[in-house]
Amino acid sequence: MARIVQKYGGTSVGDVERIKNVAARIKAIRDAGNELVVVVSARAGVTNELIARAKAVCAIPSEREMDQLLAIGEQETIALTAMALHGIGVDAVSYTGAQAGIFTDKVFTKAKIRTINAKPIEKDLKAGRVIIVAGFQGINDDGQVTTLGRGGSDLTAIALAAAVKADKCEIYTDVDGVYTADPRVVKDARKLEEISYDEMLELASLGSKVMQSRSVEFAAKYNVVFEVRSSFNQNPGTIVKQEVAYMEKVLVRGVAVDKDQAKVLISNIADKPGSAATVFKALANAHINVDMIVQNVGRAGLANLTFTVPLSEKDKAVRALEPALKEVGGEVTFDEKIAKLSVVGVGMRTHSGIAATLFEALAKAGVNIELISTSEIKISVIIARDKADDAARVAHAAFQLDQLGS
Ligand code: ADP
Ligand code: ASP
Ligand code: MG
Repeated sequence: MARIVQKYGGTSVGDVERIKNVAARIKAIRDAGNELVVVVSARAGVTNELIARAKAVCAIPSEREMDQLLAIGEQETIALTAMALHGIGVDAVSYTGAQAGIFTDKVFTKAKIRTINAKPIEKDLKAGRVIIVAGFQGINDDGQVTTLGRGGSDLTAIALAAAVKADKCEIYTDVDGVYTADPRVVKDARKLEEISYDEMLELASLGSKVMQSRSVEFAAKYNVVFEVRSSFNQNPGTIVKQEVAYMEKVLVRGVAVDKDQAKVLISNIADKPGSAATVFKALANAHINVDMIVQNVGRAGLANLTFTVPLSEKDKAVRALEPALKEVGGEVTFDEKIAKLSVVGVGMRTHSGIAATLFEALAKAGVNIELISTSEIKISVIIARDKADDAARVAHAAFQLDQLGS
């Protein structure tokens, strides 16, 4: 007997037929004598639809009310999944995030999990029940409903796997595993048998939405080994863990594209100590993630500052920057038609020439590079959004990623 935590994403529970399919899979694993805690997402599209409705009734919806609203998507699917299990004779019980003892901090819309009280779950597991937990949500110390950021059901699953000391954690989605690039965009992308936390984390934070980046961070911290696989077949998936064999030999493991990015240009800001601090403190206080920061050489006491923010946080950034710019001067403009393309691989640590290969391939394809940033294990460039998919295919070919993987 094993204790297994599974997570089924939005497409996997996208309609009642699919929910029944998930219930049948759960029953088979349950009947083999395993204990099961199952996390489900909202039906595909529901969270987006709820966000659109919020914006239709109010230009700047309150973040508290947003979380109240978004939490209902997962509440529908937990109840339906439990009912589908009852329908085929499996004892199951649904839990909201709060009922599952998932306590978070107070940051609405992207709360962090502080602690999990697994006692209620343990009790029901002992009683032989399958537990169905709403992904993406928790409760803070004031008793308020919070959500864990987009894609947050992955985090719920990984945190629960750590909390109940699961033997296995399986993330079921609509592709067979983690590929060298988004298989919907790059047709010859290859499925990886395994990938390290470091590489998975970079890919996820750079836009490969197959895993939420914070969930990978959590897995690495608590050493939760997990498998990403498909809920539509029985193919083996991708194992994500600390170390993988042949890690340093492969230079580039994957290509990621993030289209949820906006470029911010602050021109004519005062070129003096403290200007950048004022700008980025204002953004940090609003919990906005800033990336790709470039400041040009100042002239006549003025400088230009360029950086990127998530597109979904652009309006929040505008509001946060207003008082800061009153203090240090400067005008702000945005470019929303950009995307970030990245290549990732721990092998880069010990090899040179990766940047040159990428830039050359993009140049040949006529893709202009607007900003560049590098770290030990990744190179990212900002390019025009309408060229992003082509650029991903070009980068994938340049590093011969179609020959990698299983
Ligand atoms: P779920 O609803 O199951 O959480 P998501 O839509 O969040 O699923 O993530 C799965 C999607 O991630 C896939 O359909 C695929 O298009 C996309 N994706 C992006 N990059 C990758 C990658 N490197 N490997 C696999 N899938 C990827
Ligand atoms: N329903 C949430 C979202 O769409 C959480 C998730 O699917 O993981 O972001
Ligand atoms: Mg997801």
